Amino acid sequence: MSEEKYKHRYYYKESYEAAIGTFAVAIVFLFVAILSLVFLTFKIEFIGLANWGYWLFVPAFFIFIGGFDQLYRNYKYKQVVKNALAQRNFQGTYKLEHIALEIGMKPKVLLRVLLDLRNKGIIKYSFNVETGQIILGQPITYQLATEYVPPAKKLENPLPTEGKNYCVYCGHKIETGGNFCPNCGSNL
Ligand SMILES: [Zn+2]
Repeated sequence: MSEEKYKHRYYYKESYEAAIGTFAVAIVFLFVAILSLVFLTFKIEFIGLANWGYWLFVPAFFIFIGGFDQLYRNYKYKQVVKNALAQRNFQGTYKLEHIALEIGMKPKVLLRVLLDLRNKGIIKYSFNVETGQIILGQPITYQLATEYVPPAKKLENPLPTEGKNYCVYCGHKIETGGNFCPNCGSNL
């Protein structure tokens, strides 16, 4: 399926694990800031930290806010997707783009949320390899290809897929060909 609207339909990891990294950065800032207060209290001299370290509370605060915002957004996405699938009794075959449009989400983001829900055992589904439609209630066994190299989290453009017998996005083995990955729903 070389339709233009499917071109950017692929699974991507961006902002998936980002919240953890965000919190890690915030904790480092917070730690150094607290350390500076300790140094200040006990008059410890180390690279003058006692004089400036406490300023790090400011970025730490904003990075924490960003992390929580991201967590909340991820949570909300999951709720919205779960509700949309519950209305369908978690059964039936649908166009992914229709569900995405209905809930006001990019198909790319929807794919990410779906995979997350499936990994947590909340939903079951797979994709029709010819049409790319989502088949709710139909499980799939993920088979990882040995040649698979996970792509970068943030992709500007779809990856080349020619001559690959696995999905370049999730690494699922593709034996029969087709236009879409049955596991992650990416356009191949
Ligand atoms: Zn895939």
